[in-house]
Amino acid sequence: MSIESEAGTTLRRAERVAIIGAGLAGLTCARELSLQGHDVHLFEKRETVSGRMARIRMQPDQGANQTAEAVWFDHGAQYFTARSAEFAQQVRDWKNRGVVQQWCGPFVSLTNGVCEPPPGSDVRHVGVPGMDAICSDLLQQTCKAGSCKAGNPNAGNQAARITFCANVLPLQRVEQGWQIRYENIRSGVTAQLEGLFDWVVLALPSPIAQSLLPGDSPLIRQIAPFKLGPCLAVMMAFDHSLSLSFGGAFVQDSLLRWISNNSSMPQRKKTPECWILHPSSEWSAEHWNASDAAVLGQIRAAFEKAIAMVLPEPRYQALFRWENALPLQPAASGCFSDLQQRVIIAGDWCTDARVEGAYQSGLQAARRLSEEMLKQS
Ligand SMILES: Cc1cc2nc3c(=O)[nH]c(=O)nc-3n(C[C@H](O)[C@H](O)[C@H](O)COP(=O)(O)OP(=O)(O)OC[C@H]3O[C@@H](n4cnc5c(N)ncnc54)[C@H](O)[C@@H]3O)c2cc1C
Repeated sequence: MSIESEAGTTLRRAERVAIIGAGLAGLTCARELSLQGHDVHLFEKRETVSGRMARIRMQPDQGANQTAEAVWFDHGAQYFTARSAEFAQQVRDWKNRGVVQQWCGPFVSLTNGVCEPPPGSDVRHVGVPGMDAICSDLLQQTCKAGSCKAGNPNAGNQAARITFCANVLPLQRVEQGWQIRYENIRSGVTAQLEGLFDWVVLALPSPIAQSLLPGDSPLIRQIAPFKLGPCLAVMMAFDHSLSLSFGGAFVQDSLLRWISNNSSMPQRKKTPECWILHPSSEWSAEHWNASDAAVLGQIRAAFEKAIAMVLPEPRYQALFRWENALPLQPAASGCFSDLQQRVIIAGDWCTDARVEGAYQSGLQAARRLSEEMLKQS
């Protein structure tokens, strides 16, 4: 398959690209390459896109609340800011199309019940009606771009594809390219094989990318220093509002780093009032092996101390363990690549420990790949 210009002249061969991971970095890269007319196939371990920007549906199913309605929590990324002109332009587009909205908080710095204004004057945005709206939108754009090949219907009819529930196993290089093997999490079939690819983009947290690279890859050593810390995220839903004066708080002098009233974000249900509590990476690492009950008990006590208030019994509470949550010390390289082996690695940890970092890294991975393809053609 080739990529053609609007005038119909052949520019270069369309490459077959496997992208592992459908978080923001993987999807940004996929959309860019699809727009350029490449043959993109995404593989995602979970049943949905979004990775650490996902939201989770919880069913309060205990005791008297057996028939209670399900509640949604944005249990990963809480909001995002746009510091670069390029990402600000993307955010404007999402805003214009109703994919994101500004979240006005209010935001505070919180010390044992005392609120102060937080430092800085960041404008914070969230996906609507959930944080996952952003990645769902990118997926839709990617598949559309792939099906019409950058607006030229003659250049190929191969739609960009995505395979869900595909836990990709260590990469194998054969003579003609990369072979993707994965365990199908839904069916339980292991080592399912999928096509041959010219390029592989690993849009994954660094420890996972490391585990998928062939043992002799020089990238293993390059990415090894960039570790991610865990987060033991707690979700609580209350029948009645806690009537606190803020939507999001940066907590001081506490094992907690961040607490937010999820229901104060735009287009979320107001009742029950849903709260998200994020302890620090250090505390999460130290308590990673503790029981759910022990973690919930300690985080609840820290929440009460932070807001200087005794909490009512929540209608619902649960713990979610994010193993690779936040990069401890991100790289400044945008992405990593082995152009000889045709492997590129992307993710927030390559740029910045934030949503914007994941977006920039996905873009840079796509640009590096297309520059190299131009050189090789
Ligand atoms: C608790 C928490 C709070 C955060 N708060 C904020 C915040 O307030 N503001 C902010 O800007 N950022 C925040 N972040 C960071 C933000 O979520 C990330 O920077 C961003 O989502 C990273 O995107 P990514 O595409 O690089 O990685 P990911 O989102 O991790 O995407 C990787 C994808 O790869 C998939 N995958 C993994 N292994 C395999 C495999 N073997 N085969 C196939 N697929 C696989 C995963 O399921 C996932 O979908 C937070 C993160 C967490 C966890």
